[in-house]
Amino acid sequence: KVLHMKADLRKLNKEQLEAVKHYKGPCLVIAGPGTGKTTVITHRVMHLIKEYRVKPNEILVITFTKAAAREMEERFCKLPYYQKDYKRVAFGTFHSIFYRILRAYKGYRLENLLDEKEKYYVIKSIIKTLGYDFYEDEQVIESIISEMSYMYNTLANIDDYEASSIDNAVFKSVFKEYEKYKYYNDKYDYDDMLVHCYKLLISNEEILNSIRAKYRYILIDEFQDINKVQFEIMRLIAYPDNNIFVVGDDDQSIYSFRGADAGIMIEFSRIYNTAVKITLRYNYRSCSAIINSAMSLISNNKNRYEKKFVTVKDMGINPLVVRVEDFEQEAKIICQKIIDHVNQGGSYSEFAVIHRTNLQSRAFIDAFTIANIPYVSYDGLASVYNHWLLKDILAYLKAAIGIDRRNSLIRIINKPNRYIPRYVIEENIGKEGDFLDNIAIYSSLNDFQRKSIYELKDSLCRIRSMTTSKAIKYIRGYIGYEEYIRDYAFAKSIDVKLFDELLDEINSSSESFAKINDYIEHVRIILESVDYKYNENRNTNAVSLMTMHKAKGLEFEQVFISGAVDGVVPYIKGDDISLSELEDERRLFYVAMTRAKRVLYIFVPKNRFSKKVYPSRFIREIDSWLKDYRNSFKCGDKINHKHFGDGIIKGIEKRAEDYILTVEFKNDTKRLNLDVLLKNKIIT
Ligand code: ATP
Ligand code: MG
Repeated sequence: KVLHMKADLRKLNKEQLEAVKHYKGPCLVIAGPGTGKTTVITHRVMHLIKEYRVKPNEILVITFTKAAAREMEERFCKLPYYQKDYKRVAFGTFHSIFYRILRAYKGYRLENLLDEKEKYYVIKSIIKTLGYDFYEDEQVIESIISEMSYMYNTLANIDDYEASSIDNAVFKSVFKEYEKYKYYNDKYDYDDMLVHCYKLLISNEEILNSIRAKYRYILIDEFQDINKVQFEIMRLIAYPDNNIFVVGDDDQSIYSFRGADAGIMIEFSRIYNTAVKITLRYNYRSCSAIINSAMSLISNNKNRYEKKFVTVKDMGINPLVVRVEDFEQEAKIICQKIIDHVNQGGSYSEFAVIHRTNLQSRAFIDAFTIANIPYVSYDGLASVYNHWLLKDILAYLKAAIGIDRRNSLIRIINKPNRYIPRYVIEENIGKEGDFLDNIAIYSSLNDFQRKSIYELKDSLCRIRSMTTSKAIKYIRGYIGYEEYIRDYAFAKSIDVKLFDELLDEINSSSESFAKINDYIEHVRIILESVDYKYNENRNTNAVSLMTMHKAKGLEFEQVFISGAVDGVVPYIKGDDISLSELEDERRLFYVAMTRAKRVLYIFVPKNRFSKKVYPSRFIREIDSWLKDYRNSFKCGDKINHKHFGDGIIKGIEKRAEDYILTVEFKNDTKRLNLDVLLKNKIIT
């Protein structure tokens, strides 16, 4: 057994061993992706127990997500020498640790926790009580919730805080009422855990000391994404022994929008000036070609600390840049590649599909469901499927074909505004007969209101005989839902682009289901299954589907990066993107690329919702891009030339370093230099 343990440690390289054997005092490991930072944490925990006789329950290991905590604990359990009572090592997220402390010292109970759903309803009823008429406005409620969260996580003070996504005065009044509500009802929410824990520790020395005595060794993974409150609490607990061991990579810092601050990692060695600093130099995860490409990308960030590391694996193959027509075709091709691989004896779990925006998951959820491919959705329903806008569209469809007609009508009767007062709706809810007919004959309505109800009734009748996608176009256009959404976005100063994209996603999704009923059923199945798919499929043979944010720390044999086109990757909200946002986006892409062990595909659709899009500027920053990208042009491909219009490739010749295309355009045939066209974004 001793031999076994030694053999296992011998697998580690010199720097990893140094980190694993670090005993007391602060230590900072900064190193690139796949260099074994997380590995070092689990081994060090074992080493602390076996060699330094530290008690398992005195060790606290913190990671970023529940999934990561669970995974790390599993890895730890599999180490040789593991014994049952090592279960007492505390593996958790910041939240779970803060909850443990609050439960132990302040009597917090889970039943007093406001989960996200309850919080939503509390906020809604506060808005109503305050007399604002927008309490049914899902968008406003969500903005308030995310502003509150940002505020807590940066330890900001309400009086100094300036809300940006919603009227500041509204935000402040709702916030204050919400605080009162929690106080009088003895409730707390997720964000409170951080702040309450912090306040508890700075105000009660006795408790602080007993926590210090309890957690004598602290290890933190993904330290680049820590925020201010979290770090302050960790510092307090670690003091005065400062047995705080942190690992991270500033190039993978991707949570700044939530108040994370990679600067803290740099500050660490200033705060703890005796900290041992270790860098790991070997990447064990990916083939060299993938790492070389990822390095050439990230070296474009100006604001970074360069870390040199080399790969131990062989060269492998360059990232494969694949051109596809659009996002629907992308999902289909990815499904096909997965199915082919599984048919040849491979497994689903070798694959991850990584995308930048939540909306993109919709095409994959649809395609996987239709192709019967098991998948795990790391972001749950965070996509088109739980958006109120889809609920609106579905309500129209359901009302039309008579599924849950009354509730559906209540939802959309004033979307667009038909000026039907709330009391009229409420008085008719319980009545026998058709809800719309009852409202139409309601005495106090004026002619205009009555007419709009008859029009709605007529429209719903027409929808019944339409195909789903025709019906959706009709709702958007003829019924005026899209205009209503535009006005709404304008009134709320929300970027209308998001809503446009959502509606386009819904359109695309519906195209596979001609019958309205089938589409409604498809959505129902997805809503029912996605939530538990995460738990159910996590350890089974399934494809992983996730945003770049959720991909952190993970690794897969084969990775598909979806939608690498400018505007999506990097994601551009308005007309332009600032340098620091661009660097954030580049880090995200870097995280995504470095998840791949063996094969990395980067997909470049030519169109998005029937509009032309261009390859991501990041692709141009990858050393090997041109070589790979030009391989994706074949004879017979359709291309579009900025000046000559549509054409078909008739031939490709190699002349010295150049690739010459022969392209047949409508009026004549031209010979063109492919690299020049690509570098100057002349063709797609
Ligand atoms: P990331 O920055 O993406 O979180 P990381 O630095 O945490 O990466 P790990 O996940 O710990 O890296 O390790 C990457 C892979 O390399 C894992 O599969 C791990 O088992 C393997 N690995 C780490 N160290 C060694 C080693 N010394 N010998 C062989 N394999 C190793
Ligand atoms: Mg890691």
